Amino acid sequence: MKALIAGLLDLSSVDYPKRPAAVIFTPQCNYNCAFCQNWQILETKPEYEKDLDEVLKFIDKASPTIEAVKVTGGEPTLYPEFLKEVSGYSHKKGLLFGFDTNGFLYKVIRELAAYSDLISLDLKACPNSPKIIEKVIGLPGKGRQAAENTMKTLEDLLSNDEIYLDLRTTIVPTLNDKIAELQGIGEILNSLNYEARAARSSASYTLQEFVPEHARDESMRKILSPSPADLVKLADASRLEHVYIKHRDVGFMVRKDELWELTSRVT
Ligand code: SF4
Repeated sequence: MKALIAGLLDLSSVDYPKRPAAVIFTPQCNYNCAFCQNWQILETKPEYEKDLDEVLKFIDKASPTIEAVKVTGGEPTLYPEFLKEVSGYSHKKGLLFGFDTNGFLYKVIRELAAYSDLISLDLKACPNSPKIIEKVIGLPGKGRQAAENTMKTLEDLLSNDEIYLDLRTTIVPTLNDKIAELQGIGEILNSLNYEARAARSSASYTLQEFVPEHARDESMRKILSPSPADLVKLADASRLEHVYIKHRDVGFMVRKDELWELTSRVT
């Protein structure tokens, strides 16, 4: 099997919650987010074509120092057969397997859930806000479909106890940073029993900062990044108990209620 691989990272501490992981980057995406932080790998290049064996050898070599393999992108669900192969090999080596997704290809994600220990789902905005989703994903006329598909993915994954569901929203000022947006997300997660899953440590919801200097569009690079205090305010607006914050100033997935002390130091 041939696979399109934009990059391989043999050790990361921030891509798989609480586990050191190797990361595989796949190119291409079905969304067009102006703030995309990985835009440099989205376009495919001839040199990205690799034999599956090469990827499996990479996992083999990384395996003594990792506990998990994560596929990120781009949008990894564009390559379901590749994900199944990587999952099978990771499990054979005693490693956990997970992938990132924007949630659009809900049928593919439903199928891949059976091969995965972790799914990291980007909630671009509240699924009840198709107009905001449309702006965030940069696809005119696709907001409603994206919102509906995201909702189906969310319902599927929150009712699947077999996987760890790592929900995230990248907060991009001017796009999805309104209090009402987070209230809406909180209501939906509440209605789908997210809190019970989070209490059993099989799901989490993280608000993460948008990093302007990594943005695809020049115009987005002029926007100020949200502070930890901004993220805490939005986390509070969700009215969820189990909310985490990821920010350069405070670290990876810090619990919202641990942040009060930290934010008073950094703001
Ligand atoms: S931010 Fe994610 S979903 Fe949006 S274009 Fe980039 S890789 Fe695709």
